[in-house]
Amino acid sequence: MQKDVQITVVGKVFKPNPRKVLALNIILHEYFELVKWYLGFNSDSKTFLHENGYERAKRLYNLNTALIQTARDKAVEILKSFGENRNENSVLRLKRISIRFDKRCYNFSKTANLLTPYWLTLSLNKRERISLPIVFGKRQKERVEGVFKGDLSFTTVEMVKRGREWYAHFILSKTVELPDEPETVIAIDRGEHNLAVAAAISKRKPNKPMKGQFWRGEEIKRIRGLYSHIRRKLQERHRLGKIKEFKGRERRKVNQQLHIIANQIIAYAKQFPKPIIVMENLNGIRRNFKKSKNLNRRFHSLPFRKLQAIIEYKVNLEGIEVRYLPRKEVKNTSKTCNRCGHVAQMKPYERELKCPKCGLIYNRDLDACINIAHALMRGMGWRSCEPREPARVTEGVKPQTNAGSSRL
Ligand SMILES: [Zn+2]
Repeated sequence: MQKDVQITVVGKVFKPNPRKVLALNIILHEYFELVKWYLGFNSDSKTFLHENGYERAKRLYNLNTALIQTARDKAVEILKSFGENRNENSVLRLKRISIRFDKRCYNFSKTANLLTPYWLTLSLNKRERISLPIVFGKRQKERVEGVFKGDLSFTTVEMVKRGREWYAHFILSKTVELPDEPETVIAIDRGEHNLAVAAAISKRKPNKPMKGQFWRGEEIKRIRGLYSHIRRKLQERHRLGKIKEFKGRERRKVNQQLHIIANQIIAYAKQFPKPIIVMENLNGIRRNFKKSKNLNRRFHSLPFRKLQAIIEYKVNLEGIEVRYLPRKEVKNTSKTCNRCGHVAQMKPYERELKCPKCGLIYNRDLDACINIAHALMRGMGWRSCEPREPARVTEGVKPQTNAGSSRL
């Protein structure tokens, strides 16, 4: 089975001259107004918007026709996502937007220019066209070079304004071959006591989970603790500029750790034949999770969602499929016995599940992971819900705490 995967590569517009910045700002304003104008139709049908708005939009807004169309698409996306995430009191209020250029209105090329070899040319409207020098970080540059080698292809570019700087988000696409019939389900979950846990179950022995692995995320906790201390000190001294700087530094260090852990998780998955990865869909989790303030803090301080995004992006490129299970399908995973399905009464701090019904004693985070794997397996018809062959508890389960041990 072939699948198109998308990767975003971010480059910075390097010291553009004031005339170009002004042109971009004017276009951003115009584009923002146009998206709001399309939203005013309150329709998520592209056809409807095209038939009722396109000709008028061309007269009202001084934008390239391709931009008029991407603004319409954006309005549709915004409206749809608002509809999916709204609650009774939500009001749609658009604060900012990025400008989407598609193939008809941009050109990206490599030149012999000494400043930077990468240049992005944008058609803004009928008269105006600007060329911008783009610089990339090391990892991003490798991806971009992949396009010139033909491994990846360009789709669209989003021009994003942050503060006074402009960034180009290139959306790259690649067609990967995914195995038609996966043989091993790898479940990856956030734990109550770990940043991440992984478990694997083979199609041949669906009742026997294979060795699990734990990532405690201790280095990330250490970085977070350190920087929150620094932030407090700077706040006392009212050094607001410095706080921002340290925020960026903290984010980069945490990201670095997340990449290390993601690589280890992928190595874990790849040791099994034809793996498929399953994770819980965490959209809306912040809204749904209101137990205790303390728990909340610990829970959110470990950036599992970000880890999920990194894992997905990396494995997609390697041709491993990732599936997300909706939250309603993975309820109570860390309280449910993975052998008999009994839901036990448990306190948040308890680390072991002791099943009162069948007597299974199991690491709670690993148990949750196995339950997630089971949910996908049921969906793929790999196993019936019962009866199950009793699994031995600790077999092959080797807790590891290699939560990224590299030096910073
Ligand atoms: Zn049980």
